[in-house]
Amino acid sequence: MRNQTKHFINGEWIEPAGSDTIEVINPATEEVIGKISAGTKEDLDKAVAAAKAAYPSFSKSTREERIDWLEKIVEGYKKRSSELIDVMTDELGAPLSISEHVHFKMGLAHFKKAAEALKTFSFSEDRDGHTLVKESIGVSGLITPWNFPTNQTSTKIAGAIAAGSPVVLKPAEKTPYAAMILADIIHEAGVPKGAFNLVNGTGDVIGDGISSHPDIDFVSFTGSGGVGEKIMQNASKTIKKVALELGGKSPLIVLEDADMEKAAKMAVSNMFMNTGQVCTAATRILVPKTKKDKFEDAVQKVLPSFSMGNPREDGHNAGPLVSEGQWDTVQSYIQKGIDEGATVLVGGTGKPEGLHKGYFAKPTVFTNVSNDMVIAQEEIFGPVISIITYDDLDHALEIANDTIYGLAGYVVGNDPEQLRYVASNIRAGQITVNNARTDFMAPFGGFKQSGIGREWGDFGIEEYLEVKAVLGMPS
Ligand code: NAP
Ligand code: MG
Repeated sequence: MRNQTKHFINGEWIEPAGSDTIEVINPATEEVIGKISAGTKEDLDKAVAAAKAAYPSFSKSTREERIDWLEKIVEGYKKRSSELIDVMTDELGAPLSISEHVHFKMGLAHFKKAAEALKTFSFSEDRDGHTLVKESIGVSGLITPWNFPTNQTSTKIAGAIAAGSPVVLKPAEKTPYAAMILADIIHEAGVPKGAFNLVNGTGDVIGDGISSHPDIDFVSFTGSGGVGEKIMQNASKTIKKVALELGGKSPLIVLEDADMEKAAKMAVSNMFMNTGQVCTAATRILVPKTKKDKFEDAVQKVLPSFSMGNPREDGHNAGPLVSEGQWDTVQSYIQKGIDEGATVLVGGTGKPEGLHKGYFAKPTVFTNVSNDMVIAQEEIFGPVISIITYDDLDHALEIANDTIYGLAGYVVGNDPEQLRYVASNIRAGQITVNNARTDFMAPFGGFKQSGIGREWGDFGIEEYLEVKAVLGMPS
């Protein structure tokens, strides 16, 4: 049992003010694996006070000091690899290989890239008539979701440390343990006390408390649109800056000249990735009308090479969904798709064969989907994708952009002119052409209702800075 009911405040693990706890469940076994504290406003106030007290010196720390902290975090993070991998498999249900090659590595990449970006980052610039200075924004409140337990926390923490902004982090209550290991790593790296604080608890208490706290200057949130809206409302009362990384309903445009098998592999592997619990997931697969049958055949052909199962067993691409609630949501969307008249090509409602324990959902591919159906408009956050056909490229782009979201877009094909045309006409923050690798220095964030702001690399540092113009300074 991992009963870890303390909060990390002002450089040490301290007892919570209250006694309420939250159970953490392993979604593959449905068993309780431990508990954390349901933090209170009193706990949060202590953490914010510690961050505020750390601000004057932390915000004036040098570039060299910050690079040193980030590099030491990289070392500490690597040392704790097996523990981090193990805990993410327990709390999230990710297969061990995914915990290692996706979750662990993404978290690591953000600390490395922040250190790298910091080496050449410009904090001051002499311009005609004034000097431009970029300074720490103040105390930042970080609120993160469960789907990428190290990625979401690390990108925010790395940017904040690089900018000299002290933070209070509230990790997702479903996946708190990876973040608690990070707290130790950050402390052991020598980050000054008070510069990093972690308070566990619910969104309603600690999340809400962060977004309305008068001593927090900036809130960086990753999660759902509904909560993002509440955060903006709360933040408006003290005119806090907010950064929101929200949901998506991203299109994958399969060009006429694409290799259909390669395209199907992209679509299916993306459906299995993190069991579809990915904000950038390509959930709408746009296929030329003339290639529909070929594409569907290719999907059936590539599917057997993917598997879902016990995350502690070797060889699976995906594990269960994170929780019973998420399982219910995904089931109701699959049923909705059926009711709306879409065709189930693969999968459907219920649990996959042989996977009755754990929150496993069937990988499901819908076809004959029209873009106005609920399954094509709302984020499902499970292993469910929809095939939608188009007449010509402009029609594909019209469908691609017919969404409230704009987080990511994907295109697969050969003709460079068409690839460029698609990349420049999808309204989204990140476009991936033909299976390009993730670049952790490339800015990440959304157009439209997918959010406000950008994370990762140098853009991730900018988030935690304010711009100051100094006029008339003698040189
Ligand atoms: P969520 O319910 O919005 O929760 C995200 C975080 O906000 C959690 O820590 C949650 O606390 C907290 N929270 C809940 N209510 C709050 C409130 N009233 N005020 C402040 N904080 C509050 O989202 P989720 O279900 O965990 O995650 C799935 C969603 O996140 C999806 O929509 C997905 O697209 C989005 N997402 C976006 C990105 C991106 O980078 N764009 C990345 C990953 C996920 P609890 O721990 O108590 O729930
Ligand atoms: Mg939630």
